[in-house]
Amino acid sequence: MQYAIIDNIRSEAFPGGRGSCSICGSAMVAKCGPRKMHHWAHFGRRNCDPWWESETAWHRNWKNLFPENCREVVHTSPDGELHRADIKSPTGIIIEVQHSNITDAERISREIFYRNLVWVVDGSVFRQNFNIYHLLPDPDSVLAEDLVWTKATRNQHGAAHGLFFRLSEGLIENPEATKANLNSGWIHGIHEIESHVNQLYIGHHQYDWIRPRRTWLEAECPVYIDFGGNFLARLEIYDDSGLPCVRLVSKRIFVHDAMNKSDANNIARETPLTRTILALE
Ligand SMILES: [Zn+2]
Repeated sequence: MQYAIIDNIRSEAFPGGRGSCSICGSAMVAKCGPRKMHHWAHFGRRNCDPWWESETAWHRNWKNLFPENCREVVHTSPDGELHRADIKSPTGIIIEVQHSNITDAERISREIFYRNLVWVVDGSVFRQNFNIYHLLPDPDSVLAEDLVWTKATRNQHGAAHGLFFRLSEGLIENPEATKANLNSGWIHGIHEIESHVNQLYIGHHQYDWIRPRRTWLEAECPVYIDFGGNFLARLEIYDDSGLPCVRLVSKRIFVHDAMNKSDANNIARETPLTRTILALE
């Protein structure tokens, strides 16, 4: 952990430091080895919070993007259950930064416990298995309403570059056609509408994730993957066809909104990405 309590003050680890745990009150010792990141550990026993994972430099960097009093905040449920959130913003949004894989059961219990929660997942571990493909137009645009995209996969070169049917054409053949059931017709390539797509781009892309960590695809709370750059990739479902997509969000805007919005779902809603920002960052 980054903090322990010494004389009622949250303190960072220093060589020889002794303190106590903000949850269980038991003794903690500072770990300040030459090769390890300085941190606190419970003295002679396991961590009292079963959800706590041992901290990596990646965790610490994330916490340090937020003011000190937002880090490692103890949260109590009405029935008295205690956990230590990685980050709690002044407006009440909880951010859990997750490096290891977790079970569905643990993911669900944390979502129920915190409710107004955002997941930030360390994508560096599975980056080789995750490809981000072509741009998609704003799903709420008139253009997008007519397009049914073929799922991009790594081994199908065409779809990875952008292939779609038009719902308006499908309806001529079959008046019952919907985005969810249309799977044949004239196949179009993204080059036909490229400038239009560019204009209507707000951060959405197709992706393919080989051997996905499924629990993140099924999460109720927003999931952002951090691949280490200036952008986070939020996992979303694009439209009624059920197409999975990512929405790229600037990390700066994510942090700003987490500090200022009160609902986790409203992060990066009002400041969508544009092609210009994508090129600049
Ligand atoms: Zn403890």
